[in-house]
Amino acid sequence: MIAVTNPATEETIAELPEPGVAETDEAVARAKAAFPAWRAVAPADRARLLRRLAALVEEHGEELAGIESRNVGKPISGARAEVGMVADVFHFYAGAVDKHHGETIPVAGGVDLTFREPLGAVGLIVPWNFPLNIASWKLGPALACGNTVVLKPAELTPLSALRLGELVLEAGIPEGVVNVVAGKGSVVGQRLVEHPDVAKIGFTGSTEVGRRVMEGAAGTIKRVTLELGGKSANVVFADADLEGAAAAAPYAVFDNAGQDCCARSRIFVERSAYDRFLELLVEATKGVAVGDPRDEATEMGPLISAAHRETVSSFVDGEPLFRGESPEGPGFWFPCTLVEATNDDRIAREEVFGPVAAVIPFEDEADAVRLANDTPFGLSGSIWTRDGARALRLARALDSGVLSVNSNSSVRVATPFGGFKQSGFGRELGMQALDGYSEVKNVFVSTE
Ligand code: NAD
Repeated sequence: MIAVTNPATEETIAELPEPGVAETDEAVARAKAAFPAWRAVAPADRARLLRRLAALVEEHGEELAGIESRNVGKPISGARAEVGMVADVFHFYAGAVDKHHGETIPVAGGVDLTFREPLGAVGLIVPWNFPLNIASWKLGPALACGNTVVLKPAELTPLSALRLGELVLEAGIPEGVVNVVAGKGSVVGQRLVEHPDVAKIGFTGSTEVGRRVMEGAAGTIKRVTLELGGKSANVVFADADLEGAAAAAPYAVFDNAGQDCCARSRIFVERSAYDRFLELLVEATKGVAVGDPRDEATEMGPLISAAHRETVSSFVDGEPLFRGESPEGPGFWFPCTLVEATNDDRIAREEVFGPVAAVIPFEDEADAVRLANDTPFGLSGSIWTRDGARALRLARALDSGVLSVNSNSSVRVATPFGGFKQSGFGRELGMQALDGYSEVKNVFVSTE
């Protein structure tokens, strides 16, 4: 049995049967059997089914947000916004079905055509921090391209994916096209990675497990997309709107209790503005509303588990620059924490995945680029400056898949999302995600 916990109360909210290798193989067989018919569905009909799914997600928005909030400890207002994005993602890929296609290429002696073919039955492995969102980022393009799917949610947060599986059927998407197997990574996930009938793994999770997925996929030369960890930079220049940058910075780290791959957990501040910015940052961090996820005003809930809280705690030794308030137990609470550090400290090297930010001074633009890039990761980041040319210079110089200027924004439905370096490869969202769920076929037709 898998016991599912509400991290804000430590109560068990569900007990589910635990699927093993046999159930995984059955799900893969169902996905394989459903593939020929699904790939043959006319594009306009596939689009219609995805639109119906989007509408059902909207209709059940409050229910899905409630599930996500209880299972992950997310503030209800944030959970609602995430479910809104899930519907938008299905709408976007419904619209993309007939807009991702091949081309004709001028060649001598004939006509050359490319086709975009679906891959087959694909395995989608999802983490616990944004369970429904990240599932939709993979499901949308996979289904739009004509693949069938085995979806494996994280063992800590299976409830929203199971409910989504029901809505998929209610939308009229045929049985076998989407199969949800809510089991352990080491059993179900590993089996999907090694299964000869799984054509691709779309994986989001830690860099450590991503490495294992890549190794396991080698046996069958399986395609993989890896969306992994991060240690992103928030670079604040002295010429920036310091008040605006300081007001935004806490939400770039403490959103989802810091359990966010895009968390800008290294805050680099130009030395000449350092003291002033720290004052503003501490004030802004005091304003983060931590507490009961059911409360509409709450901005930050608990961490996902007791074990994870232990890990997060291990990053904070000594007296931090600032430690906020958090509720007494029950619940896996951890306060917003700011630590002055250097870029060589463990807190600046490793992904904490909790509400802990390292604040680090820099001397000038070249120093900012050097420090921001001095990390094995490259997922996200922000640049705060009023100098437009400098913003563009930094945007080009930083080794990161996603950047924003004078903003915290990382993720938008229509724009590509993914990492450089050990943050992974492949892109989700936008039209680019469709490339990861299709194969290019080239056909030459002689006219001679
Ligand atoms: P995790 O790597 O522990 O687990 C991710 C998923 O992989 C889970 O479903 C898990 O069951 C499964 N898994 C575990 N072992 C496996 C194995 N041997 N084979 C196949 N699957 C296996 O990550 P997590 O703790 O759930 O999530 C946190 C991590 O995810 C963080 O590092 C975070 O940065 C990363 N993340 C990245 C992105 C991104 O888009 N780049 C987004 C969200 C989270």
